[in-house]
Amino acid sequence: MKQQWITLLGATGSIGCNTLEVLDLHRDRYRVFALSAHRNVNRLAEQCLRFSPRFAVVPGEREAECLRGLLGQSERAETTEILIGPEALCHVAAHPEVQTVMAAIVGAAGLPSTLAAARAGKRILLANKEALVMSGGLMMDAVHRCGATLLPVDSEHNAIFQSLPHHHREQGLARVGVNRIILTASGGPFLKTPLDQLLQVTPDEACRHPNWVMGRKISVDSATMMNKGLELIEACWLFNANPDQVDILIHPESIIHSLVAYVDGSLIAQLGCPDMRIPIAHALAFPERLVSGAPALDLARVAQLNFQSLDLERFPVIRLAYGAMRAGGTAPAVLNAANEVAVAAFLEHRLPFRDIPRLIESVLEQSAQSAVHTLEQVMAADEEARRLALHLMRRELS
Ligand code: NAD
Ligand code: MG
Repeated sequence: MKQQWITLLGATGSIGCNTLEVLDLHRDRYRVFALSAHRNVNRLAEQCLRFSPRFAVVPGEREAECLRGLLGQSERAETTEILIGPEALCHVAAHPEVQTVMAAIVGAAGLPSTLAAARAGKRILLANKEALVMSGGLMMDAVHRCGATLLPVDSEHNAIFQSLPHHHREQGLARVGVNRIILTASGGPFLKTPLDQLLQVTPDEACRHPNWVMGRKISVDSATMMNKGLELIEACWLFNANPDQVDILIHPESIIHSLVAYVDGSLIAQLGCPDMRIPIAHALAFPERLVSGAPALDLARVAQLNFQSLDLERFPVIRLAYGAMRAGGTAPAVLNAANEVAVAAFLEHRLPFRDIPRLIESVLEQSAQSAVHTLEQVMAADEEARRLALHLMRRELS
């Protein structure tokens, strides 16, 4: 079998490490072309020694020096060339020898390299939802125009993809009898916390997700439910749906990963243990199936599945996400940028948890929004929204 070359953007994160676990089970099928990391050079060095990629990408000369030192004189180290900076991420994402790109950088930082992969016609395994939320139609146009394939790794979207007939892409949701898309949400760690106590929650409490182990940014997003807001926008672009066709349903066990409702009354869902190796293996092998290393789901042991409707008073950011998707243009990029600033400030104890939605709402209200035609426009909207968010935060504090 001819091996596929894979670039892994964000290799040292939670999705990156899970991807390497799956790849390790299938070394006959896949070879690692490039790995990238931001700060965790130690882990990147271990991964380079284990997978011997052609390239390793780090943000600066300091990290490159450190990586060189860690790889030392080992024979394997000589096979890996070290590249530096954001342009290098785009280079390894668009390289002619690469077939597949795992987009697993967190946040807006992943947009240029994911778009570069789309423009180079790659098979993109999309974990970095922020990239699609920010760029929307620009990304989807690049995918279609350049013959790329976009496969969702986010567990909900992967579940929806699995629950839709394959020809939904050409025919559209209505033609294949889809009534609604139902995104499930665990509700995160604060589903039952009394509302007045949300003022005092700490970053560690917010990152203690009941079902998933994830990076800190997405963990906070799960606690505010902005993660579901971003996923709503992601679903609209991936499945060509309008926001009014997408519902959110609280399902605390994270066993049903999402559902599709059909006009005849049928609901089709995908179930599995909450383990990201499952959607990663699915996206890697689609339309085939691969062993993922995840345990099988024992429904008798699960015994009970629970559902409840969404409480918008507890999770006000959901309303903001629906609003941003309806507004279109740069609004989702503004929403995302304000959220990234708010989450970073909360993680550094500079903003109380309850003020995250308020800050995002103020930034959305005060930003000038426009249509999106280029990456530069998206990045400018992102930068402007970050500046405004920081300004508003400073004003509140002074
Ligand atoms: P993480 O924080 O664990 O890892 C992030 C990765 O991105 C790391 O490799 C880090 O080095 C790299 N990175 C961070 N900042 C960067 C920058 N400025 N430039 C270049 N690289 C940078 O995050 P994660 O939990 O693995 O999530 C990654 C993406 O996948 C996010 O978009 C998240 O929303 C999405 N996602 C994650 C999960 C999950 O279970 N963890 C599930 C669904 C979707
Ligand atoms: Mg998800």
